[in-house]
Amino acid sequence: MVVIDGSQGEGGGQILRSSLALSLVTGLAFRIEKIRSSRKKPGLMRQHLTAVEAAAAVGRAEVQGAGIGSQQLVFAPTAIKPGNYHFAVGTAGSCTLVLQTVLPALLIADTRSELVLEGGTHNPYAPPFDFLARAFLPLIERMGPRVSAILQRPGFYPAGGGRFTVTVDPAAGLRRIDIPERGAIRNLAARAMVARLPRQIGERELKVVRDRLGWSEEWCHVIEADWSPGPGNFLCVEIVSEHCAEVFSGFGERGVSAEKVAKDTVKLVEEYLSANVPVGPYLADQLLLPMALAGGGSFRTLAPTLHLTTNAEVIRRFLPVEVEMLKRAPNDWEVRLENKTRT
Ligand code: AMP
Repeated sequence: MVVIDGSQGEGGGQILRSSLALSLVTGLAFRIEKIRSSRKKPGLMRQHLTAVEAAAAVGRAEVQGAGIGSQQLVFAPTAIKPGNYHFAVGTAGSCTLVLQTVLPALLIADTRSELVLEGGTHNPYAPPFDFLARAFLPLIERMGPRVSAILQRPGFYPAGGGRFTVTVDPAAGLRRIDIPERGAIRNLAARAMVARLPRQIGERELKVVRDRLGWSEEWCHVIEADWSPGPGNFLCVEIVSEHCAEVFSGFGERGVSAEKVAKDTVKLVEEYLSANVPVGPYLADQLLLPMALAGGGSFRTLAPTLHLTTNAEVIRRFLPVEVEMLKRAPNDWEVRLENKTRT
């Protein structure tokens, strides 16, 4: 049994989700202790429990310790069962993170899966739906599987109520990808989503994007998403380059001006553009696990985050891979993942 220390490195929910995903793909049982011990409310929250339940359903697993607040869990999968699943977080907790947990196993399963996911679709500290659909999944598709995701209703904190569907057509094995360069920029877009809030919030955010990045009006759009239970506001800045697409996000918050939300998002975009690397900080930690399944891969990215280094540690516990991170400049790193068993 693999034993995982949930307090290592970043000490958050990713250690649990990656362990669940890796347990499903390797068939190895694991025990995790000190779950999310670095968070204000440690242990399993509703969103993490849904991820555990989703992984247990897909892997027909035996589970001990799956309760709200639990800081220890034992998970033993038996067999991967692709198929039709409906996973609902039940709160505004992120349902994209639930997908992140079960997707790796479904990518290499033997038949198609169709998923319905409900909860928060646009949450801070989690991949927003737009990032998933436009940055992450296109790279997964380059590895072989076909994955399509459709947003039916955005869900924001605190109301939740978001919903999206995902269809996964698996591949027999994942193909290695290498992303050394960004290449020429092909498309730029900024979208400000407002749900049950004044349209003007989105317009103010897009004005900051135009003023600071020098973008033109026709690249910027407000989306009024009043079919969300809302309220909510989400700013999404998309940079599509020859070899990679990236999505940077900002989230409206009570007491924080639209201008501040947009300025913070623009800062992330400027940092990414000036580093001249293809892969941004969030994509970097999320690409590692599929690359491990592919037996290797590489990319250039910004300075490694604690999420990236921690995820590399967790992956090494389940799979015979080596992850190298080589500094070329302060904000230009090469991350290489290789299968140790290969000659
Ligand atoms: P944790 O904090 O351990 O629950 O993990 C959060 C996960 O969400 C990590 O995989 C992050 O890369 C991802 N994430 C957080 N914020 C964003 C964002 N703005 N865009 C994309 N992914 C994100």
